[in-house]
Amino acid sequence: MLKIGVLALQGDVREHIASLHECGATPITVRRPSELDSVSALILPGGESTTIAKLAHSFEIFEPIRKRIAEGMPVYGSCAGMILLADRVTDAAHDQTTFGGLDITVRRNAFGRQVDSFETDLEILEIASTAVRAVFIRAPWVEQVGSSVEVLSSVTDKKGVAHPVAVRQGSLLATSFHPELTSDNRIHRYFLEQMCHSFQK
Ligand code: GLN
Repeated sequence: MLKIGVLALQGDVREHIASLHECGATPITVRRPSELDSVSALILPGGESTTIAKLAHSFEIFEPIRKRIAEGMPVYGSCAGMILLADRVTDAAHDQTTFGGLDITVRRNAFGRQVDSFETDLEILEIASTAVRAVFIRAPWVEQVGSSVEVLSSVTDKKGVAHPVAVRQGSLLATSFHPELTSDNRIHRYFLEQMCHSFQK
């Protein structure tokens, strides 16, 4: 049985655990390097990316996560988790560090104050042919993607500019929004079935 970890330093950990249970997976919370060693894949939850990164340094799990990502461990990051996977961050907090691995530039809090939080229906390539209700909370968007990154979904702003909000690069998946806050588990299911089962630890 595949063990899936949820990084449990801060953020909506419980919600990801619940979504994984609903998909029939065996989730565990991960705070220590020994717990990380026991999982085949990891979820980085929504929350506050600066806080999660700082705590990861304090718990001495920052470098171990970086290393596992570099070795090809499947990782899914939602919202703050997307920022933590990004190689580059625009509007980063002073001293902000990320695990990296995903060849994207993200802009933190990209949707601005007026639309701090909103919901919309999105189609997501490969994952959902019918709309997914996407919940955005002080969400980032993707400003630039490397050539090996696949854009799965975008949101178009008032000026008609499309901003990617769901991307995949090999074993790494990231969304600007929070499927863990809805009862629609298609993104978790895709991560488990299409990305984790091919990588057995
Ligand atoms: N704005 C937050 C950050 O920078 C992310 C918000 C979220 O995860 N809902 O980490």
